[in-house]
Amino acid sequence: MSEQIVIDAPAFARDAKTLRGKIAVADLRRLQEILSAAGTFVDYLLSGKTDSHGTLFLHLVIEGRLQLQCQRCLGNLDFPLLLKSALELAPGGGELEAMAADEREDADVIPADKGMAVISLIEEEILLALPIAPRHAPGACGAPSTFALHGTDHPMGALAALKGKLTK
Ligand SMILES: [Zn+2]
Repeated sequence: MSEQIVIDAPAFARDAKTLRGKIAVADLRRLQEILSAAGTFVDYLLSGKTDSHGTLFLHLVIEGRLQLQCQRCLGNLDFPLLLKSALELAPGGGELEAMAADEREDADVIPADKGMAVISLIEEEILLALPIAPRHAPGACGAPSTFALHGTDHPMGALAALKGKLTK
């Protein structure tokens, strides 16, 4: 289990700090239900920035691989992840100010949290970046078809065999 890492986000950005690390995907609890396997890692690099207007940012780079489940064939889908996010810290703002600013501007705005949980932030960014229904490229689904599994190439035969099993 990875330790939760907490930063003072405004101070982190102001001081141009950087933080890098590696997280076991198995530790990202909210991701578990969409993974087909959890034995991978993601690397991250978080860096604090201030632009010429004095606006504070966190730049986040996440790189790794996830094993998702293809929604067409239910097979394993190797999903390379490379995310680069620029997150603006809402000036003196909490959740509501951040949401309002997020509507107004192009940048993603997050609360300027003095006790920001880094792992949760990374998990959130990954969740936002994932496709709602991940699929292999057209024609690339590799799992054996239902009919092959039942040892017949006749669709109705396979269905009948399946029904027979269910009623036993
Ligand atoms: Zn597939």
